Amino acid sequence: MTWPITLERPKDLAAATRRLAALGGKGAVLGGGLELLDMRNRPEILIPTRFLGPMSYIEVRSAEVRIGAATTLGELVDSSSIRHYAWPLWEAARLVGSPQIRAQATLAGNLLQRPRCWYFRNGFPCLKNGVEGCPAETGDNRHHAIFDGGPTYSVYHSDIGLVLHALQATLAIATPEGDKVISMFDLYADPKKDPAREHVLKPGEIIREIRFRQLDNRWVGTFLKVRDRRGFDFALASVAVTYNNYYGKFSSVRILLGAVAPRAYVPQKSIDFLQNRKLNRSLLAPAADLSIEGAQPLAHNAYKVHLVRNLVMRALEKTYDRLSWKPD
Ligand SMILES: Cc1cc2nc3c(=O)[nH]c(=O)nc-3n(C[C@H](O)[C@H](O)[C@H](O)COP(=O)(O)OP(=O)(O)OC[C@H]3O[C@@H](n4cnc5c(N)ncnc54)[C@H](O)[C@@H]3O)c2cc1C
Ligand code: SF4
Repeated sequence: MTWPITLERPKDLAAATRRLAALGGKGAVLGGGLELLDMRNRPEILIPTRFLGPMSYIEVRSAEVRIGAATTLGELVDSSSIRHYAWPLWEAARLVGSPQIRAQATLAGNLLQRPRCWYFRNGFPCLKNGVEGCPAETGDNRHHAIFDGGPTYSVYHSDIGLVLHALQATLAIATPEGDKVISMFDLYADPKKDPAREHVLKPGEIIREIRFRQLDNRWVGTFLKVRDRRGFDFALASVAVTYNNYYGKFSSVRILLGAVAPRAYVPQKSIDFLQNRKLNRSLLAPAADLSIEGAQPLAHNAYKVHLVRNLVMRALEKTYDRLSWKPD
């Protein structure tokens, strides 16, 4: 464990990107510190995002929502704009941890949280810390992946990230060479190719802002999650759904599943089934049935298959009910 740590205050965001690029793995951006200060082998030099100018704000302009990367999840919950224009994000934020956690956790930090896998968190040697093999594959895998598993079976746990995938959000990233914009899907590393990493950001790349189109009474969505405890807990399974009513048809359908695969999982068959078909409530059940096709549960997590099917059904129904116009 690296201790003590040094906090640095570069003169601005551009200087921070250059400093972090020069430090390589020895430096990192610090959000609320919930993850970073809890990790083994944390970097020696930290640059708090609150030193880097305005990175904590929520704006709605020309039907676009823009959120500073250092905005806390508590600020999302308290925002009438988020509740009004991005309600699945509001639904997700209010289910993260406790009020104390939400007051500290930043949006970017939530997207970049490392897996909760108990083997990894408790320091067991595994692919995530550079050693061959995954003890969860044959061990206690109650909470692990049922889709896209292997070589790692850890699961994607960012509730906020799941909704941002469904909202087709983009991320503005400050780099030493200037800003770049990437999609949520582009943020995450391919776990088959590089199981040790979850995201693709290089040293010196700082998430600055998250942007997406606001929801309205035709483009609607929902976030739902199931937990072991109602108090606060990570999801056993979660789902984010958005779709658009385009002249009476399902369009721009997005369904994302959390806590079931190493990255946010897309049940493509459910999406293809609904996309461009006339709005009709009777299509929701077969779409939900398709969401579990291809599931490959491990020895102790077959319960997730049924959980996912029912969760997707509930989310599709709730989203349907939110359309201002529907035939049935
Ligand atoms: C008890 C508990 C319960 C929780 N429950 C949930 C839950 O139900 N659902 C859920 O989704 N999460 C949950 N979490 C996870 C929690 O939301 C994250 O730990 C938190 O959001 C991390 O944010 P942070 O600002 O503290 O990150 P930090 O620890 O500051 O940073 C995390 C990582 O992100 C990097 N980083 C931070 N900001 C930036 C930036 N702007 N650009 C680039 N890199 C950056 C850091 O360098 C670090 O690598 C829970 C956590 C705890 C402790
Ligand atoms: S699931 Fe991933 S994080 Fe957990 S033990 Fe296996 S390789 Fe490590």
